[in-house]
Amino acid sequence: MHRIKNEGGNSFGFYSMESSVAWTRDRLKLEKELRIALNSGHLQVLYQPIVDVYQQNIVRMEALVRWPHPTRGYLSPSEFIPLAESIGLMEQLGKEVLKIACLAAHKLIQIGKPIHVSVNVHPHQLLHGNFLPALSRVLTETGLPATSLILEITESAVVSDMARASVILQQINTLGALIALDDFGTGYSSLTLLRELPIDILKIDKSFIRALDQNINDLTITQAIIGLGVNLGLMIVAEGVESDRQARILLENHCHLQQGYFFSRPVPYESILQLVNEADLSNLASIKQLCAIVNLK
Ligand code: C2E
Ligand code: CA
Ligand code: CA
Repeated sequence: MHRIKNEGGNSFGFYSMESSVAWTRDRLKLEKELRIALNSGHLQVLYQPIVDVYQQNIVRMEALVRWPHPTRGYLSPSEFIPLAESIGLMEQLGKEVLKIACLAAHKLIQIGKPIHVSVNVHPHQLLHGNFLPALSRVLTETGLPATSLILEITESAVVSDMARASVILQQINTLGALIALDDFGTGYSSLTLLRELPIDILKIDKSFIRALDQNINDLTITQAIIGLGVNLGLMIVAEGVESDRQARILLENHCHLQQGYFFSRPVPYESILQLVNEADLSNLASIKQLCAIVNLK
């Protein structure tokens, strides 16, 4: 059952002693390898630009973790985060990503490219353990001003313990970091959260953006989220923008902060460095093309 669930669920398999033993052995091996990778700094962090289409600029970047596995190839978070979670490694993993991402953002500030960095925070990391002292320590060690950091949380992280989440988010807010509600629209979409918690940014989930130009319901929901966010004084980011049509529709609806393969895939720090350098911004031909289309500049 656990094997089928881990492979995505909605399927079935037959139990046999041999396959069960093999699966358990395989999983134990992967657990051990993940511990080693984490302790020896082998996890990688990629960065995906978040573009302000009005400014024709990269204004933020989202840190996304990867595990270059020696035999299984480049593993994406969905392939190892559930494992890290189940063996209690999420806090350590989260801290590691936070530190690498803050260092990267600080280096960009030092070369005069102040780009905010957005880091995903796992519910476990936020609610259990000592998130705030760990965060303060990372900021001190890396030298990154809190105001250059955005923490992306999901609704599931907060609804499980609203009272505790509220206290922690207020403290983060006092430090000066911004808080983004990720995957907005897919979970509880509770308006109470928006009323009670110090949320600064709504990220419209990519599932609404995917068929924005084909499905009137997706468009209506996206417009409603933008309207809600704007009226509450929040910033809105659309993720999963893959085409100029989607980007244009979002822009027509006053959503100018956009992220997705249309602009850039998640890339290593060196490539972000190239992208943010003015001379190389023409690499992001999609921005120029888009702005030309909408006659912005
Ligand atoms: P997310 O936070 O919603 O991140 C966005 C995901 O969408 C990323 O997948 C990104 O590569 C992908 N994406 C970006 N643009 C497009 C696009 O135009 N089209 C499509 N189809 N996808 C796009 P990734 O990197 O595989 O990450 C998956 C999830 O894993 C993330 O979803 C986030 O929830 C989690 N994750 C990633 N890194 C971390 C981390 O360091 N810590 C924690 N706690 N979670 C992480
Ligand atoms: Ca995210
Ligand atoms: Ca998301």
